Amino acid sequence: MRTVWEDTVGDDDRAVLERGTARELDPAPDVLVVGGGIVGLAAAALCRRAGLGRVNVVETQTLAWGPSGRAAGFLAPGLHELGDPAPFVALARVGLAVHRELDATWDGALGLHDVDMDVMGIALPQQAEVHPLRLAAAYARRAGAVVTGVAVTGVDTAGGRVARVHTGAGDITPGALVLATGLPPAYLDFGPASRAGLLDVSWPSIKGHLLTTEPAPFRLEVSPGGPHIGVRQLPDGRLLAGGTLDPDDHEPDVRDDVVAGLREEMVALVPGAAGLSIDHAWTCFRPGTPDGLPVIDRVPGLENAWMSVGHFRTGLLLAPAAGRAIASWITSGERPPELASFGLGRFA
Ligand SMILES: Cc1cc2nc3c(=O)[nH]c(=O)nc-3n(C[C@H](O)[C@H](O)[C@H](O)COP(=O)(O)OP(=O)(O)OC[C@H]3O[C@@H](n4cnc5c(N)ncnc54)[C@H](O)[C@@H]3O)c2cc1C
Repeated sequence: MRTVWEDTVGDDDRAVLERGTARELDPAPDVLVVGGGIVGLAAAALCRRAGLGRVNVVETQTLAWGPSGRAAGFLAPGLHELGDPAPFVALARVGLAVHRELDATWDGALGLHDVDMDVMGIALPQQAEVHPLRLAAAYARRAGAVVTGVAVTGVDTAGGRVARVHTGAGDITPGALVLATGLPPAYLDFGPASRAGLLDVSWPSIKGHLLTTEPAPFRLEVSPGGPHIGVRQLPDGRLLAGGTLDPDDHEPDVRDDVVAGLREEMVALVPGAAGLSIDHAWTCFRPGTPDGLPVIDRVPGLENAWMSVGHFRTGLLLAPAAGRAIASWITSGERPPELASFGLGRFA
């Protein structure tokens, strides 16, 4: 079940995503980010950019091994203007704006392509697309010290603060902790106040399928979207279609019937795709929340711990907006106004 991204990522980017040994573990960083998906990597890079000092990312596997490296790669706030709540649309627009600003500052390192989309006859000009692994590698290069293959296994709190973080490679005493673990890990016990806030919420994990075709002998002028899926064309001509929403399927396997349905929807949007063979089909899981919006908040009851989790369908898009806002919150001690709608308290 290899993804097209694994087969097309550059060797330098691949090396960056696999880098980082326990030797790089900083026992006392100013900011410790748990989770090396796109949300954690962007948060780390933006904390460094905000001048927050030594930043350490700890990832249990390799960087972006999960949905962050397997997603479709649309950065399309326009899709959310079609019905999502205004604060979410605003954050999504900031997400694309920050990606663009950083891509320009870093000489195109993020690899953003501008693209026009057409979703069921509605034109969405000036959206963007990325190679998810290239995006993750670009943020990882700027994320500070990165440790892979090491899990955070426990947290000690004292006086309303995170005092010590236990990992498989030793303990860490961070100034601030940022939890970017996709979903909050239920086995991390942050004490009674946080436990109630975090564990009373249901955190669904929603599977999706994606596919690519062999390179098409034509170029799409716009990336078309239907009621359920979007189609984009990769630089080498392949068409990518995704992602389905498969809420009742909890196994990671690719299902032939779902791929057949996805292919049918792709052909309805791009009739010229009918004769193309499928060369990759894969799945991944979206980290969800009860209302489908992320939780970007301070961990309840703790002064120096934040979480950026439940990014569901838009983690690639929102990652730098969330990261910049958390960096600002750590710096100022004040919640940035754009995060007012993304607190955990909304589920109380
Ligand atoms: C089919 C599909 C298509 C999608 N398409 C898009 C798209 O086009 N655009 C878009 O913006 N979004 C898209 N998404 C959504 C996007 O993939 C997710 O929102 C995003 O990847 C979430 O990123 P994350 O960093 O929060 O989580 P993850 O990628 O899951 O990263 C969290 C990391 O934390 C690590 N971790 C967890 N616990 C610990 C621990 N205790 N110690 C150390 N490390 C730990 C995990 O190993 C993991 O690597 C799509 C998702 C799916 C399923």
